Amino acid sequence: MRSPREFENPLCAQVDGDAWFPEKGANIIGAQSICHKCPHRTECAEWGIKHEVHGIWGGLSANDRRLIRRKKNIILEVPSIEEWLGNAQPRKSLE
Ligand code: SF4
Repeated sequence: MRSPREFENPLCAQVDGDAWFPEKGANIIGAQSICHKCPHRTECAEWGIKHEVHGIWGGLSANDRRLIRRKKNIILEVPSIEEWLGNAQPRKSLE
């Protein structure tokens, strides 16, 4: 699975990145609508479900991903910095 850092021309790279890490209760529709047009949406959502606690990934909020993990018994794995930067390394389990 590729890290989102490896995506070619993701749409979020063209916009203020703060929208993908909103404060609690903030409107996330703008970021989600951009994700829905992004060619990396599916891959990004899969990454987010597997690896990310915070932010919006592939149009899914943190709560969306937590519910999917719970429903599908997916264990969250925090990527190492090397993996996040695109150099695969063993992962450490968080949940
Ligand atoms: S799906 Fe959204 S968060 Fe993921 S790369 Fe595309 S624009 Fe960025």
